[in-house]
Amino acid sequence: MPWSIINLGVLFLAFGLLAGICPCNREQPRFARRELADDALYWFSAIFYADLGGLFLKAAAQTLAPTHSAGLLAAIAAGYGWASHAPLLVQAILILLALDFIQYWLHRLFHGRALWPFHAIHHSAEQVDWTTAYRFHPVNFILYNTGAVTLVKLAGFSPLAFVIIGPFNLVASALVHANLDWTFGPFRYLLASPVFHRWHHVRDPSVRNRNFAPTFPILDVIFGTFYMPKGILPRDYGVEGVPPHFLGQLAYPFVVYAERLGLAPATKAARAAA
Ligand SMILES: [Zn+2]
Ligand SMILES: [Zn+2]
Repeated sequence: MPWSIINLGVLFLAFGLLAGICPCNREQPRFARRELADDALYWFSAIFYADLGGLFLKAAAQTLAPTHSAGLLAAIAAGYGWASHAPLLVQAILILLALDFIQYWLHRLFHGRALWPFHAIHHSAEQVDWTTAYRFHPVNFILYNTGAVTLVKLAGFSPLAFVIIGPFNLVASALVHANLDWTFGPFRYLLASPVFHRWHHVRDPSVRNRNFAPTFPILDVIFGTFYMPKGILPRDYGVEGVPPHFLGQLAYPFVVYAERLGLAPATKAARAAA
């Protein structure tokens, strides 16, 4: 835990200073953004959701193969087969590619009407910066993150390879949300940049439904969802109807579903999430 706090402190200083030098949206505050306390709660709660993957695996193994579950779980935990014997760097790249492919399609699914009320929370920040990177409803986080990582673990990769990609994913998620005007120039198709992902957060739904890849924008190019107009920077972020604070946001999707089912009178929330 102390290391996590030190890492967060380093990110806070680094992205705050960089936002003063090359901001994407100069009008945004560099350090003390409103809703910062709510986003801090999302960061710390994400640590607990990530631990649920082991419980999912245990429950699945005990249900599907009750007599062999202990051996299966031990093999998955230690790595097995060809995947665990490849060089660690190759394993890390394969894990990132597999995760990106799964998360690209999960992300598109969350932009559909059925799951949007959960994902709208991630899009609710009107001032997008690195601190909003983990603003996810637990249902969204557990399916999109814990679920996808657990699925990739089934392939048998070494646990060390996941240790390598952990810090990479943390910094990459923070970076793509950072208030920076970085496009990565000719590498814009190779790695997701702050400008690439900030376009995904704009209020206009015709633009918001683009740029789904977490790390490799080439997936958006292949599947026809890439959007990064040259010479223009994104602005005007957020969605209608989502409450501004943590507890209201946790309840928000259930309020929308209750309204859709006619169990509660339709409000602005349901209309915005329709
Ligand atoms: Zn999204
Ligand atoms: Zn985002």
